[in-house]
Amino acid sequence: MSAFPVTRLRRLRRTAPLRDLVRETRLDLDQFVMPLFVGPDTQRNESLPALGRFSVADVVREAEELVRHGVKALILFGIPDAKDEEGSGAWVEDGVVQRTLHALRPRFPELLLLTDVCLCEYTSHGHCGVLRDDEVDNDATLELLVRTAVSHVEAGADAVCPSDMMDGRIGAIRAELPDTPIVAYSAKYASAFYGPFREAAESAPAFGDRRGYQMDPGNVREALRECELDLAEGADVLMVKPALPNLDVIRAVRDRFDAPLAAYNVSGEYAMVKDAARAGHLDERAAAVESLVAIKRAGADLVISYWTKELAGWL
Ligand SMILES: [Zn+2]
Repeated sequence: MSAFPVTRLRRLRRTAPLRDLVRETRLDLDQFVMPLFVGPDTQRNESLPALGRFSVADVVREAEELVRHGVKALILFGIPDAKDEEGSGAWVEDGVVQRTLHALRPRFPELLLLTDVCLCEYTSHGHCGVLRDDEVDNDATLELLVRTAVSHVEAGADAVCPSDMMDGRIGAIRAELPDTPIVAYSAKYASAFYGPFREAAESAPAFGDRRGYQMDPGNVREALRECELDLAEGADVLMVKPALPNLDVIRAVRDRFDAPLAAYNVSGEYAMVKDAARAGHLDERAAAVESLVAIKRAGADLVISYWTKELAGWL
């Protein structure tokens, strides 16, 4: 490369059309997934609109609106009427996610319906699996996750997304669902950025925390091992969660593996920008778009983001 003054990189930054022409990373709504919470009743969330919840009846109207905006994919999270030790609301035929799928599937044949597969919204203790003495029992949990994933597919899910971080869950689900895409929450960190989600999904653990099964934020090689195992067990898409504190992990996974890579732009990332914008510290749209571009630039193919609905209006 010739040096200054022959080379002047500012030449291509001068006007918006020039910048558009040479932009390396773009946001495309086709690769965004909108999280949607369904529960016994509709509850608006004034400060964090995407973290509100819908009854099964109201979720149809919300899906209609999203489709009208051009959103192509949803990921469903359920808040059951009642919780128990095992989290049976996750897999029962008339569970909240199953009823939602039955309501949405025939009405929106083109809309991609992904489901989160975990037990923490459904267990009385709020942990992602069944307990044995105060610990989550990995192997006993697998069967319940499989049951949950199968019930989602029977109700019309296009893909299942196990988020529990139990060892061996991808293989266990794959054995029962040979044809269903599995989006594996492969590198899911024990993160402080899940706070607003836990409030919305009523899934905060009643005791302890999730560091016994979710990943330690200090580790990146471990993330690669998780991804390698998930692919070996039959995962179709890998995921890194949360996205913004782990852009280096997204890049490391991208460089190592060829499988499609998802990143979850989590509730805390969304809330930080919303609250800062409300306080007048920054412009929400600009900060959100910059964050999402950074996640894509780091190497994510698809992004689960609470901004998906708003992004549809911005693009
Ligand atoms: Zn969970």
